[in-house]
Amino acid sequence: MELGAYRWKAPVGYLDEYVKSFRERKIIGSLCASCGRVYVPPREICARCFTETAEKVEVSQYGEVLAFLVSPPLEKGKVVIAGIDAVQAGFLKEGEQIILAMVRFEGTSSSLVLPLINTEPEKVRVGMKVKAVWAEECKGKLADLIGVEPAFEVIYK
Ligand SMILES: [Zn+2]
Repeated sequence: MELGAYRWKAPVGYLDEYVKSFRERKIIGSLCASCGRVYVPPREICARCFTETAEKVEVSQYGEVLAFLVSPPLEKGKVVIAGIDAVQAGFLKEGEQIILAMVRFEGTSSSLVLPLINTEPEKVRVGMKVKAVWAEECKGKLADLIGVEPAFEVIYK
């Protein structure tokens, strides 16, 4: 038996709507009409039932940390991005630790990796509730969604 390879190339402009919705501080996902799964970022085909996900839906700004990683304290000369030392250039502070979280927004079936900010590494837990943090001025670009920060849990009585 031979297994074939599957290669999928996102159509040009497919994520345009997703990124443009950031201007209104909205997170858009794609809904599978067949099984009800919602994907963020939107994807064209459902990963479960291979149906085309034609419908777009706005999803919650709140989510949950599925996994995370914490960088060692940053040192000058250790974080070089595109030939620029991020500490020396002032993008990141010496001694700062970067936290990246795999986040699943409420009601969605997929996750994305975002910086987790406004917290300390020792306070981060799997299952922690977080909410989206937006740039002060949103321009409809990927960078508008800065990351997530801890959110208080809402308790309904
Ligand atoms: Zn489906």
